[in-house]
Amino acid sequence: MTDLAVIGSTVPELAALLAGILGLLIGSFLNVVIYRVPKMMERQWAQECAQLNGSHAEPAEKFNLLTPRSRCSSCGHQIRWYENIPVLGYLFLRGKCSACGVRYGIRYPLIELATGCLFAFCALRWGWTPTTLAWCGFCAALLGLAVIDWDTTLLPDDMTLPLMWAGLVAAALQWNSAVSLTDSFWGAVAGYLSLWAVYWAFKLATGKEGMGYGDFKLLAALGAWFGWAALVPMILMASVIGAIAGIAMKFTSGLRAGGYIPFGPFLAGAGFTALVFGPQSILRFVGL
Ligand SMILES: [Zn+2]
Repeated sequence: MTDLAVIGSTVPELAALLAGILGLLIGSFLNVVIYRVPKMMERQWAQECAQLNGSHAEPAEKFNLLTPRSRCSSCGHQIRWYENIPVLGYLFLRGKCSACGVRYGIRYPLIELATGCLFAFCALRWGWTPTTLAWCGFCAALLGLAVIDWDTTLLPDDMTLPLMWAGLVAAALQWNSAVSLTDSFWGAVAGYLSLWAVYWAFKLATGKEGMGYGDFKLLAALGAWFGWAALVPMILMASVIGAIAGIAMKFTSGLRAGGYIPFGPFLAGAGFTALVFGPQSILRFVGL
């Protein structure tokens, strides 16, 4: 262990502070992921459609998580490094583009702060251990998925599937000591199949699609991290949060365009609740 790790293992507050700072930086990267991954998927689909049609797709400008550098979406001003510092950059700019003055959403610093808090929480609870690392990765992926689903109703396979595999690996390595590999494995299987069954029951009964395949994979991932016994509490929790949010939205601004509310953010909400309070505590929240 390095000196820093020794200090971190004896002073949990220091580990939490360092993890919190790392979380702010990862949160800043998450903002890029949230903005770009759906666009990357759209580009890929467009390219595949063009290939199927036999038409020649324009070779597009390189676009991935690293290139091009972050720009103002309104005027194209390239964000300078100090404007990109998590939270502080936003405060320094007073939430506006330094070139054209267009407002940046408050969501950017909020996502950075949320990631920082989650990382700090994990470090406080598990100290300087691989367990902290595992749960920090879990938090970042889950937060990113929740926001992407909210924005686009997409849950990218490139994120849900690695999250599920990571849950199985964390259980196998005992980095996540809360579940055995067997519980984790059956959690993933049952998580996928339970929503798959609900989907088909709903579709056969109403002819409509109540959710997407991404939701099955997300619940499979949560099952891998919390074990099969946590699935029922988490589905209950997600449904309760979803119902409350649905009613609230009906009374405020009407439902979203198209009337479709994604389920992923509520599943993610249940996942975070399970992480902070324990999966079984959810049953108490919903009065069981
Ligand atoms: Zn601008």
